[in-house]
Order: sequence, then C-alpha cells, then structure tokens
Amino acid sequence: MLVNRAKDLGFACAGIATLESSKYKEQYERWIEQGMHGAMDWLERNNDKRLNPNQLVDQGLSVLMVADLYASRDKESSGKSEPTVLGHGKIARYARGRDYHKVMKKRLIVLADEIRAQYPDASLKVFVDTAPVPERELAQRAGIGWTGKNTLTINPKLGSYFFLGGIVMTLEVHAPQTQESISDHCGTCTRCIDACPTDAITPYQVDARRCISYLTIEHRDRIDPKLQSKMGDWIYGCDICQEVCPHNSLKETGIPAHVHYQSERGSFDLLEVLDWKEEDRRQAFTNSAMKRAKLDMIKRNAVIVTTNQLQSVSASAEPTSEESQELKGKLEELNSDLDTESIVRQAVSVGLGALNKDHD
Ligand code: SF4
Ligand code: SF4
Repeated sequence: MLVNRAKDLGFACAGIATLESSKYKEQYERWIEQGMHGAMDWLERNNDKRLNPNQLVDQGLSVLMVADLYASRDKESSGKSEPTVLGHGKIARYARGRDYHKVMKKRLIVLADEIRAQYPDASLKVFVDTAPVPERELAQRAGIGWTGKNTLTINPKLGSYFFLGGIVMTLEVHAPQTQESISDHCGTCTRCIDACPTDAITPYQVDARRCISYLTIEHRDRIDPKLQSKMGDWIYGCDICQEVCPHNSLKETGIPAHVHYQSERGSFDLLEVLDWKEEDRRQAFTNSAMKRAKLDMIKRNAVIVTTNQLQSVSASAEPTSEESQELKGKLEELNSDLDTESIVRQAVSVGLGALNKDHD
C-alpha cells in the first residue's frame, strides 16, 4: 500500500526494507581513512547512525525508499553525451531542474503524515540527502536498484538518473511487503571506468578528490592543474559515467522525469558567468540545488571550461573565431583585475599558461 501511494505521489519507484547494520562498514571506513572523501568532512561524522540506520529514530525497524526520476530513458537525449558548444559550460542533469531536496521532501512529508494518521504511535524520519543514511545500500535492499561500479544506484528499467530519499520508521514490516534485494547487473562491463576522464573510478569506488562532480560542486579551493584539463566542458557536476552506462540507453519505459526536473537549461553562458556578481548568482540559482556552489567556485569552474574549450580550438585546424578571441580576452581581463577572487585567479593563471604554451 505504501509503495503504491509513493508512486501515486509521482515517485518513479519505491520499496520497503527492514533496517539492518550496513554490510559495507569496513569498505566505508577504508574509503574515509584513505581520504577519498576529500573535504567532505561531514562524512567522517555520525557514522554510528550512517552504518546503523535503525538509530535514526529510536528503535527504527524499517525504511520506505523512493526514487525520483530526473531524466527519463524515454527521451532521445537522456543517455547521450551532449556536444560541446563553444562558450557554454555543461550542467549535470540532476541540477537542471528545481532543487530536489524541496521537491522530494514535500511529497515525503505528505506520505509521513498519512502513515502517522494510520499508526499514531509510529516514529518517523524523512530524509533526502539530509541525514547520515546508507541510501544506496537501503535502495538495493528495498528492491530499487543495485549499486553499479560507478557507485550509483541503477534500476534495471529506469537506469540511474534518479534521486533517492526515504522514511525511516518504527513500523514492523512483514514479508511480502519487503521487496527482494536486486542483484548486480554490471557483469564484465567497465564502460564507466574506461570513460571517466580523471580515472576516479575503481570498481564500486569513486575517489572524490579526482571526481569532476566533487571538484565543481564541493571543492572550495583551487583545483589541481593536472586535473583541470581533464574536466572538459563541465561547469557544474559531471554525467559521463552515467551517459556511457548501457542501463541509461534509450528505452521505452513510459515513466517520464518528474515535472519539476524537466528543464531546458543544460548549460551556462561562460562569459555571463565570468561577469556574475553575487546577486546574479543568487538569481540564477533560485530554486536550484546549484546554490551549493559559491560565486568564486562557479567562476573558477567557468574559467576551467573556457580554457579547455580554447585549447581544443587551438588544437583544431579551424581559424580563431571572434567568440574564442572574446573568451581569451575575458581570461586576460580577469588576470589583470585586482578584484578577481583568489581561486578564480589561480585557475586563470593555469589556463593562460597552458594557452600561451600552445601558441609557442
Ligand atoms: S562523475 Fe565524472 S569524474 Fe566523477 S566518477 Fe563519474 S565520470 Fe568520473
Ligand atoms: S557502465 Fe557498466 S560497469 Fe559501469 S555502472 Fe553501468 S553497467 Fe556497471
């Protein structure tokens, strides 16, 4: 009943699992010990809860997991890599629409209220990326999908372009309401590992310090110059390891992305971003999960994309266009402007160094 109600509320998939301690405790702790979480120091905290999700509420017994689709396999463009457009920085699909925290939480709260009305003694906790929860492990046990070699949850029908959220409950849930765990369908495939431009993936593990998604969204400092040239056109996030996954290829599922994530905005104009003031950033990121990136971070990312595109132009036989001259001019302007933020300036310096070397 709960699963059907979740689907009525627009979730593409839902399932229930009993709560157990994580089976991946050692793997998680090793990942943290090796520093692969980068500067996301909150991942070092609350691990008692993260690895024992029954502690999220007193005597938690079960969890309802939901998946909210942000890109449908029914759409021609869903799994395809989009072409580079000079002067534009690509946005990962998950960040193109409305802020998923709000979109999902609203409907999960409706569900939680309905559960409370039926079971007044139940304690519940709603989570959408906001509590220490092993979401992917719970999603697998709730029958939503398996954790792929790229570490994302993959549903055999829907692919992997979805958000996860859920409700931890003190309700005892009996079989057959609990769904079967989904087995791993990655097999011998290594497409995501081969395609990752920064070699961030080893099977079932991502080194966040090398991942473009982490670098553009979470990393608040300068970016290692050796990684900058590998970041391609991504100004916010990266979809490559999902684009190449065969489970995201075009397929008729009849399940569209949730209406709040359907957006035409797939990129930002680099020159515009490089001119942004705080107010422009605030306006552009209204209702968006992208507000996580501070002004200097998004401008740093724009500088890196600009440099990468100009390097590609200079490596091609094509004559220098007015647009590429304008982009190069912008980098030079930022370089001589004393107000340019420090991490932006560092990226400009790496970029101009590389571009001028190309001309030597
Ligand atoms: S998001 Fe991009 S950089 Fe990160 S692991 Fe996937 S392909 Fe690699
Ligand atoms: S690309 Fe292949 S190995 Fe990677 S997650 Fe998809 S199926 Fe698994």
